[in-house]
Amino acid sequence: DGSLLSKSQTLELRNKFIGPSCTLFFKSDPLKIVRASGQYMFDENGHSYLDCINNVCHVGHCHPDVVKAGYEQMQKLNTNSRFLHDNIVLLAQKLASTLPPSLCMVYFTNSGSESNDLAIRLARHHTKATEIIALDRAYHGHVVSLIDISTYKLNNMTDGVHKKPDFVHIAECPDIFRGKYVDTDYPQEHLGALYASDVDDIITNIQRNNKDVCCFIAESMQSCGGQIIYPSDYLSKVFKSVRAAGGVCILDEVQTGFGRVGSHLWAFERQGVVPDIVTIGKPMGNGHPVAAVITTKEIAASFGACGVEYFNTYGGNPVSCAIGLAVLDVIEKEELMKKACLVGDAMSSKLFDLKEKYPSIVGDVRGLGLFWGIDMVKDQNTRKPATEDAAFVVKRMKEERILVSRDGPYENILKFKPPMSFSVDNVDTLTEMLDSVFSELSRKRESASQEVTDSNNSAVNDELSTNGEPPVKRPCLNGIETQTY
Ligand code: PMP
Repeated sequence: DGSLLSKSQTLELRNKFIGPSCTLFFKSDPLKIVRASGQYMFDENGHSYLDCINNVCHVGHCHPDVVKAGYEQMQKLNTNSRFLHDNIVLLAQKLASTLPPSLCMVYFTNSGSESNDLAIRLARHHTKATEIIALDRAYHGHVVSLIDISTYKLNNMTDGVHKKPDFVHIAECPDIFRGKYVDTDYPQEHLGALYASDVDDIITNIQRNNKDVCCFIAESMQSCGGQIIYPSDYLSKVFKSVRAAGGVCILDEVQTGFGRVGSHLWAFERQGVVPDIVTIGKPMGNGHPVAAVITTKEIAASFGACGVEYFNTYGGNPVSCAIGLAVLDVIEKEELMKKACLVGDAMSSKLFDLKEKYPSIVGDVRGLGLFWGIDMVKDQNTRKPATEDAAFVVKRMKEERILVSRDGPYENILKFKPPMSFSVDNVDTLTEMLDSVFSELSRKRESASQEVTDSNNSAVNDELSTNGEPPVKRPCLNGIETQTY
């Protein structure tokens, strides 16, 4: 396979030299991937895996056009953006042409984290205000300023070192299946307003304390939080309130951008809103680190007036920009958005079939384009999250060489966000295997409940003998098998 080390040697060196917080997928039996192409990854023995989760290698792993663009530019020049170069301006122009006209000032960075951190800086300089409103369950990046606003990470920290600062306010995650307001308690058309009213309450509170709103930040659809699709009027209502309070609206398109939803290049367009700042990353370089912040002329002017330059050693370099341009070209040339609609329709129909077939396993199916989630439950009526069953499914699918992941506060949401080269045939392979694993799970549940009945009857099981209930297990919340991806 061309690699220098055996799998066990790689693992041994990793354990020795790589920090223990850098967790692996499938920790108990990690994969060593040595090459990839399109939507397939290959291990050191040449086994292929269908990749249903990598939204970074967006136009397909190692797409030849993208590789070529990077290689050719690397042969000519790579340097910082203090020299005039065509690539940076052409990519900025191209990005601006895909966005609403007000979003026309571009800052290049190297990661989603850098982009979100810069977005908050821009908001602060523009509003001169301090208070930030973010959504519960959000993940916006790994740097200090973003851990501050990412309860996805903050809530799971156990050493008490990093606490949510007082200037950060967390709004309810608009999850209509298992959030504060759910579709079984309220009419569907009221849910957007109900969740938006939570943001209104936060704003009132901020103002009562004689503070001002700096910004509201959210993903256009929440990914790490469990593939959450907001009620259709949620963002427009929130934006109205935030702007009335003098704040700016930041949308994080790091996971959802570049045509993943099929119908639009940017997921926020579905909600009919225009943010003041948008951040993009991950798919932008198809695996190469390139990201950006795009904002309005007014906000850019406020930032410019702060008195210091913005300099980023690698941000906007000719190689990264050549790659960014190539990715956008491939999306157009291969009509990947049209494809995402088509494949997304197939995915929708197959996943809803599974929901019908396994009502006691599949609680909710949600998504569009190539962004899908299955909320796994123990029981459709109680909607109790099936955390361990989701872990079982991820593990079994991997054994069948199909890579899926799970996420959400209970780690019970199966996530699908494959490269955009994913085909209708791939949908069939994925959903047929899900069908078979769900049926295995049904049998497993049946025999487990039989065992509980048997052991209750004979009262031999100590753990179960006190109240007849299995011991309650805390869901695994430390993200061991479900790293952000
Ligand atoms: N925003 C979102 C929504 C993300 O999912 C991530 C990464 N998972 C980031 C920002 C941070 O991006 P990066 O890892 O490139 O810093």
